[in-house]
Amino acid sequence: MSLLNKPVALSLMRASGNLHLGNYLGALKNWIAMVNDYECFIGMADMHAITENYKPAILRKDTINILAQYLASGLVAEKSHFFLQSHIIGHTELAWVLGCLTPLGQLERMTQFKEKAKNQRSNINAGLLYYPVLMASDILLYNADKVPVGEDQKQHVELCRDIAQKFNNNFSETFKLPEVYIPKVGARIMSLQNPGIKMSKSDDNLNGTLFLLDPPHLLRKKIMSAVTDSGNEIVARKDKPGMTNLLNILSSITNISINELEKQFLGKGYAELKDTVAEAVITLLEPIQKKYTSIINDKSYLEKIIKEGANAAQNRANKMLRKVYRKVGFVERSR
Ligand code: AMP
Repeated sequence: MSLLNKPVALSLMRASGNLHLGNYLGALKNWIAMVNDYECFIGMADMHAITENYKPAILRKDTINILAQYLASGLVAEKSHFFLQSHIIGHTELAWVLGCLTPLGQLERMTQFKEKAKNQRSNINAGLLYYPVLMASDILLYNADKVPVGEDQKQHVELCRDIAQKFNNNFSETFKLPEVYIPKVGARIMSLQNPGIKMSKSDDNLNGTLFLLDPPHLLRKKIMSAVTDSGNEIVARKDKPGMTNLLNILSSITNISINELEKQFLGKGYAELKDTVAEAVITLLEPIQKKYTSIINDKSYLEKIIKEGANAAQNRANKMLRKVYRKVGFVERSR
């Protein structure tokens, strides 16, 4: 299949821990839907991962596990370029240039920086603050048209647009302004144990997070013990965050609107809704888990995919980096 002349979509996930249902419904599901219409560059963000507390051997393992989970979820190498952020020369180089255009105050105002700084007080490193500039570089290095992400990344894509605009104004038209692509349903899946916070890999309470590789009995157990709201109505409403979250999950998996689901569950109990959600989640994830088990053991296949993806990504990155370096006034290196 020719990927030429298609618009470009760019997506990366932090290469830490295992992927969860929020990652799948908020982002991955959309990537899968985009592969026919876009040239997709899909990355494992290992450089982003080291802004958090981590262990090198685990990072190495997680990075490959995440690639295997992408593939098990339905992405295929014939239709996308998979790459590791650290394999491509250009992400950090462009991030430096973009950082010199980014006001410090704008980075300090990023919601995710403030949240992470609160959660890892003993390790508020400069990388945590700089993360959105590296993300802008991830996107602009490939001149991406679309960036499919969950709701929590919207602010970072907006910052990326601001930086791109500033670069274009200062140095002449160079970058397209990337558009964020956020799903109508599933953009913010919340913790099952605390629907006031988003479902996350790094939640201390593992019962709040449904991992793609959790065995079916564990998925069911977590869903059946999800916190509920007072009253007994099954509706999506501000004062019913537990129900809203479960309905959101069900709607995103089944593509049945929340309105329609509310009608279907009229007069029914919380346990019945939870049971239906558990069935839907297990049915979605079981084939992914089976496929993952066969892919993760095929090391040479995974290596081949990363090598080929890196070649395609580096090719595109080289062109953009050369252009940017010329525009900002760096003397070209003779070949
Ligand atoms: P991360 O795991 O933070 O690297 O996020 C990878 C992708 O998943 C990003 O596009 C996020 O916006 C998305 N994402 C992460 N958590 C959630 C969530 N709880 N609900 C929906 N999307 C999410």
